[in-house]
Amino acid sequence: SPSKKSILITGGAGFIGSSFIPYILRTHQDYHVINLDKLTYAADLARLRDIEHLDRYTFVKGDICDRKKVDQIFSEFQIDSVIHFAAESHVDNSILSPDHFIKTNIEGTFVLLESARKFWNPGFLKSKNTRFYHISTDEVFGSLGPEGHFTENSPYAPNSPYSASKASSDLLVRSYHKTYGMNTLISNCSNNFGPRQHHEKLIPTIIRKAIAEEPIPIYGDGSNIRDWIYVSDHCRAIDLVFHKGQSGDTFVIGGNNEQSNLQVAKKVCTLLDDLQPRTSGSYKELITFVKDRPGHDFRYALDDAKVRKQLGWKPLEDFESGLRKTISGYLKKIQKV
Ligand code: NAD
Repeated sequence: SPSKKSILITGGAGFIGSSFIPYILRTHQDYHVINLDKLTYAADLARLRDIEHLDRYTFVKGDICDRKKVDQIFSEFQIDSVIHFAAESHVDNSILSPDHFIKTNIEGTFVLLESARKFWNPGFLKSKNTRFYHISTDEVFGSLGPEGHFTENSPYAPNSPYSASKASSDLLVRSYHKTYGMNTLISNCSNNFGPRQHHEKLIPTIIRKAIAEEPIPIYGDGSNIRDWIYVSDHCRAIDLVFHKGQSGDTFVIGGNNEQSNLQVAKKVCTLLDDLQPRTSGSYKELITFVKDRPGHDFRYALDDAKVRKQLGWKPLEDFESGLRKTISGYLKKIQKV
């Protein structure tokens, strides 16, 4: 039936996708989710343990750059919507070796758009019932000074190979809307955090190093500012954008929670001091400043009035309670090993 949606979710074994899939399966009982993931180092299928047995969930191991495979998935599962998370996502890796970022983030997005265009053309391409939604980042806008906020109208000015590749994929998606009338959506979100994030990212690194009694590396003088959003708040926003956004819409999504990297490190250490005290002193003593990341953006901050006003969304998790859950999750995980 037309209400029974068949949604291709790419990168669903990653940090955010694996939080989103259980969410959408729970909130929309008639949806079938097909999760296409290459299972790179960043993936972990164990994140999907709670839902993997459902009939409404299908996992396909594969690469979004593989045209044949993607075409085949569209026809086999009669895909009517795409929510595209799959990407190389770690800025530091993009500085060391950008190749995978260009391949997956730009070419992979192009392959998905092309498959969708061919499969939905001509009857469904502009239809309300087909949607192509790209999950993107606020890093496409580049860096802010101490003042101001990014909005949906901010110019693109990416500074790392990662953000340049995400900016490119956003622009490709935009062009498929403008040129072919494809029913597209883009959201640009700030830094996500929460339990089960890959250990390479900032907050897991702080926890991991602290517990190991090793220096906690903080870039430069720690003054770089990011906006932090708890992953489940992002997932609620994605659900709303997917269902209520207009064709061609873009939204910025933030946690209204600006923190310098040093503040984040200190907060995590304070919570750890409480949850798993050191034999003496505070974990804060382990904080060590290291050579800054090249092209390190100074500040990201968002004015997300549009998603708040138009879709009635706001973040619900406060930073400290979100950090507590993240730390507890991490401690549980390492105790199991
Ligand atoms: P992640 O690195 O945790 O997960 C990415 C997933 O994509 C992994 O499961 C990986 O196996 C899969 N993947 C990578 N290359 C693939 C390919 N060629 N084919 C198929 N699957 C592939 O990333 P995340 O943190 O969950 O981020 C998801 C999306 O959200 C990304 O597009 C990212 O740019 C965007 N985003 C992330 C954040 C954040 O703070 N993490 C913020 C804003 C936007």
